[in-house]
Amino acid sequence: MTVSNSHRITTDQLEVPPRILLGPGPSNAHPRVLQALGMRQVGHLDPQFIGLMNETQELLRYVWQTDNRLTIPVSGTGSAAMEASLANTVEPGDVVLIGVNGYFGERLCDMAGRYGADVRRIEKPWGQVFSLDELRAALHEHRPAVLGLVHAETSTGARQPLEGVAELCRETNTLLLVDTVTSIGGVPLFIDEWGVDVAYAGSQKCLSCPPGIAPLTLGERAVEKLNRRQTKVANWYLDMTMVGKYWGSERTYHHTAPINMNYAFREALRLVAEEGLEARWERHRQNAELLWDGLAELGIACHVPVEYRLPSLTTAVIPDGVDGKAVARYLLQNYNIEIAAGLGQLGGKVWRIGLMGFNSRRENVLLLLSALKDALKRIS
Ligand SMILES: *Cc1c(COP(=O)(O)O)cnc(C)c1O
Repeated sequence: MTVSNSHRITTDQLEVPPRILLGPGPSNAHPRVLQALGMRQVGHLDPQFIGLMNETQELLRYVWQTDNRLTIPVSGTGSAAMEASLANTVEPGDVVLIGVNGYFGERLCDMAGRYGADVRRIEKPWGQVFSLDELRAALHEHRPAVLGLVHAETSTGARQPLEGVAELCRETNTLLLVDTVTSIGGVPLFIDEWGVDVAYAGSQKCLSCPPGIAPLTLGERAVEKLNRRQTKVANWYLDMTMVGKYWGSERTYHHTAPINMNYAFREALRLVAEEGLEARWERHRQNAELLWDGLAELGIACHVPVEYRLPSLTTAVIPDGVDGKAVARYLLQNYNIEIAAGLGQLGGKVWRIGLMGFNSRRENVLLLLSALKDALKRIS
């Protein structure tokens, strides 16, 4: 046998441009998070690591404002935690009602269907949100086991109000499952006060940690449903009856925790605790308002009404006659700034601008606004 060298290419040591990531995610990681990511490893059952796991869970409970015991980072990106939330709460035949007013609501339907759910939809045009009356009517019509809503729709820039939804869910014995990927650490969020039973999030948006680890929390009612299951969780890797034993007191090996991602995630949560949630939410709001005012001065409207517009993600309407893709390309090539195009119903209509976590800073907003002004002058 001879070794083939046909794929043995010679490559340069990795070089990456200093991008400012002002799209829908990932956002730039905080320098302290990147520093933690590069630290030497310990074993995944080392007493030092177990101490770190406990601290991470406590900090995550603070960031999410929950006392839920089963509050952990899942190995994988936000979509892994999204899948875990459905895999563990849905049994084949369960009616699952999803609020679809953007791309991620669609994804919830797709995932729930793959776990055998009888998926029902309540729909709104992209950029709008559901009222309590609409949700009550849909809950009573479908009487679902689970209601899935997206708190912060990154595809539309809309914030779904959640106060009062859990009370409606109690009327029909429904679990409330919420996507908080683009709200955690950037937008007011109270898991316990709002009665959310299941929530998942991501590390790469307002927490400013690279993608690869993702928060999940299950409240008492969700854990009870999990324990009552007639069928095994249909996803071995994300089965919380097993993963929960590694994060609980048993510390049983299930899969090797991504050690360095956990270091990074702990540091990201520590940064939130240092700043304080109130100050962090306020910072996100102020920088978003600076952006919205600056866009208005450039004659650019926002797609979502200000009452439920997200501070972490703005959908800016591309002015008539402007080539939106060319503007985004110009910003990347000339300013190292990434913004994103619209998806689905908003394809070709908006830019998506993220001001998330470490990136939610005044100087980024001012740089983006002057870069946009320059781009609009050159491109139309
Ligand atoms: C980004 C995002 C996800 C998925 O997270 P990934 O890290 O891309 O897997 C899910 N829901 C929402 C609302 C998001 O913005």
